[in-house]
Amino acid sequence: MTYIRHIEHEDIVHRCFRCGYCKYPSDYSDFNCPSYKAFGWDTFAPGGRMWLTRAWLAGEIETSARFAEIMFSCVACDNCKNQCVFERFKDFLPDIFQETRAELVGEGLIPPGVRDYFKAIVTSGNPYKQPQSERGDWAEGTGLKPYTNQKYLFYAGCVGSFDEVGRRMAKSVGKMLVDAGLSVGILAGEETCDGNDVRTLGEMGLFEELARANIEKFKSKGVKEIVTLDPHALNTFKKDYPGLGGRFKVRHYSEVLAELIKKKKIKLKAWPVKITYHDPCYLGRHQNVYQAPREILKAIPKAEFVEMHRHHEDAFCCGGGGGNFFTDILGTGEDSASRVRVREAAATGASVLAVACPSCAKMLSDAVKIENLEDSLEVLGLAEILERARK
Ligand code: SF4
Ligand code: SF4
Repeated sequence: MTYIRHIEHEDIVHRCFRCGYCKYPSDYSDFNCPSYKAFGWDTFAPGGRMWLTRAWLAGEIETSARFAEIMFSCVACDNCKNQCVFERFKDFLPDIFQETRAELVGEGLIPPGVRDYFKAIVTSGNPYKQPQSERGDWAEGTGLKPYTNQKYLFYAGCVGSFDEVGRRMAKSVGKMLVDAGLSVGILAGEETCDGNDVRTLGEMGLFEELARANIEKFKSKGVKEIVTLDPHALNTFKKDYPGLGGRFKVRHYSEVLAELIKKKKIKLKAWPVKITYHDPCYLGRHQNVYQAPREILKAIPKAEFVEMHRHHEDAFCCGGGGGNFFTDILGTGEDSASRVRVREAAATGASVLAVACPSCAKMLSDAVKIENLEDSLEVLGLAEILERARK
């Protein structure tokens, strides 16, 4: 049987002429496409992917394990969307790669790490293969109560619920929200994976199942406003859930903490420390939240805030997006995104690398160890930083 491929943006794929601008930041100082940086082949750059996709759709190349590896190595960082020189089609670049992955999922040709990731979510509801009932265990000792009719639902997501670094981060945020007097609760195991990375990896059926389960649960509990730990959850709750009937007011925790500081619900004392900040792709480029994390860090008396060379729209991804956090297709070589990023952070002279995403926290903490920077650079979530500077 011949497989009939269809990607929604098929009619514009041919417009790319491989000028290559999309793999750089705006000052062209280094490669800003993490998969191109890691592998160095033009097929792993956005333009190369576009040409491969066009040839594949035209039947000029076969579906192969190599083709799948190239498509699944895109970490959905959105740098190419920002940097492509063609205004009329740049917005669709990451969508085209995502649609191609969805076709590969349909054909059943996906890398083993991606298959294992989907399988774990189907069987356990999370990639860690842990009982769903243990989702809320991280909240012990924070004062957070199960959601009944509080103003906000705090959604920690899979990394925040099960990963050691993520749990530490979730705990610090949860405690900070409770101590500031916010009316907030958690679902403690009644929720499931948000599905952002499942969707990005192209398993549209599984994504819809997860999203509908969460939407139904949120609605049955009367949830109106959600605060997320994870920018990945923020992204899909805001972008994808409304199309499935899930319309909630959603904010990232950094936005809430910045507001609480302004209202003096969180009071800070001096902490003389040099801090830099890593923009998570799903918070920055995907959701345009750049200021709130910086407002938090700049509010700490005596702390010196310094930007990395690449920041805001030009930030370099940690390599954990697009499911790579779980599938590890980019690996941990010298030019892997997380190692490049911590070297860039260390070059600022900062002793604290602030993060706003549990996946970034884990990726960059691991990279700090590999780069032997443990004695000079500490990776901390925004609330963990506030804990040290709180009166
Ligand atoms: S995607 Fe845009 S910037 Fe990138 S190679 Fe193609 S035309 Fe050039
Ligand atoms: S979204 Fe990011 S990783 Fe994917 S092709 Fe574009 S720049 Fe590269």
